[in-house]
Amino acid sequence: MKVLKKKRMNLGKRTAKSIYDSDERENSMNRVIQIKVEMKQLETQLEQLKRELNIFRENCNHEFVKTDYSQQCTKCHLIESLQW
Ligand SMILES: [Zn+2]
Repeated sequence: MKVLKKKRMNLGKRTAKSIYDSDERENSMNRVIQIKVEMKQLETQLEQLKRELNIFRENCNHEFVKTDYSQQCTKCHLIESLQW
């Protein structure tokens, strides 16, 4: 395994992890980009789902089931705290 000197990027204290083959490093960097793209897509999807759920809850005719400290709607699963 060849040790690559870090020139452009400051990797801080992660010296042990900066030891890669060039191929290995290339692959891990591609994977990082791939992960970030996927995270962005999932964040967008999550935001859409949250909006959808909020719209559903705003229009819900709630039917709450009470527990000791909270109540939950059986239809939209909205949880409200009963502690003040
Ligand atoms: Zn509800």
